[in-house]
Amino acid sequence: MSNSLLKIAAANLKKAVPLMLKYQIPTTPTNYALWYAYVGEQNPQLNAELDQAIKQNQTYSPVTSELLFRKHVADPAELNVREMRKNLDAMVCELSQSLKDTNNDTETFQTQIDNSFSQLEKLEHQGFSLEQVIALVRNIVKESANIRSSTENFSQQLQKAQSEINTLKKRLADSEKDVLYDALTNILNRRAFDEDINAQIDNSPNGCCLILIDIDHFKNFNDTFGHQLGDLVLKIVAKRVQEACRDGIKLYRFGGEEFAIIIPNSRLSIARQLAEGIRRAIEKLSVKDRRSDKVIDSITASFGVAQWKENQDVGQFIEATDRLLYEAKRLGRNRVMPIAS
Ligand code: GH3
Ligand code: MG
Ligand code: MG
Repeated sequence: MSNSLLKIAAANLKKAVPLMLKYQIPTTPTNYALWYAYVGEQNPQLNAELDQAIKQNQTYSPVTSELLFRKHVADPAELNVREMRKNLDAMVCELSQSLKDTNNDTETFQTQIDNSFSQLEKLEHQGFSLEQVIALVRNIVKESANIRSSTENFSQQLQKAQSEINTLKKRLADSEKDVLYDALTNILNRRAFDEDINAQIDNSPNGCCLILIDIDHFKNFNDTFGHQLGDLVLKIVAKRVQEACRDGIKLYRFGGEEFAIIIPNSRLSIARQLAEGIRRAIEKLSVKDRRSDKVIDSITASFGVAQWKENQDVGQFIEATDRLLYEAKRLGRNRVMPIAS
């Protein structure tokens, strides 16, 4: 970004943040981008719709924000996080410049005081009246109060802005994280898997293995114990499986109740052993159903394990593994396929 663009970005930011504060708009990256566009005044339609949304109840809902954002600004997946970070940095720059300016004001004031005091000395010599002296002193006090309150005001503003910036930065960092992590289980998501798999294959001269895991009868589980307990099971399973994945072995949430593990540089027998260990670990898990106070210890999963074959593309590799998972289901679930030879 060129210097002048940086200036515009910083100026827009300085306008956007106070508006967001005023309307109590949460400082999410989405809202930030929305208001940034708003003060930039490049899209009259957006401004009109945003004004309309605000007018209705002085603030707006997260969904309204999201819809406006999608309609006028960008697809959230393409949200340019890096650009926003640059803008934030520009804003910090601007604010510290303003702080310097305030310090300069304080210096000017110091000079004024010095002047006044030397005038006071002169007054003494020239025999001015008491009233005149008091007037001068009053002036100094007033100046001092003015400067102090403007400095205080500014430093309050600055603190507020600074904490806003910190929140924004943190949310930005979180949103970057969201791109690769699954919100429910906190493990890597499908997108991360898709980004990783090719590189993992390329970096595995001794063979790359894939494990696909699918929790057994999970629809049934949800129907019986409720979706909330289902979510908890997904979290617990993910945590337990993650513990089993060390030394560059990576776990991903592949789909709803499906997980994938990529094991770089591994023979099939090693990957199979790992899967077998995880299968037994899942079998041992238990959760308490608070509604019935019963302990549920019937959680199991099925596994397909395959090694990448020369000339296979990623789709074929996944399909081959998935076929083995399907075999495991067909043969009665809670098992690893292929069977060790
Ligand atoms: P199978 O043993 O053949 O795999 O049976 P299944 O019931 O596990 O398989 P199916 O694919 O029919 O159903 C998957 C279920 O997983 C359906 C869906 O409700 C549930 N599920 C998917 N994602 C989530 C989630 O995030 N939370 C909860 N609680 N359930 C989920
Ligand atoms: Mg499934
Ligand atoms: Mg299932």
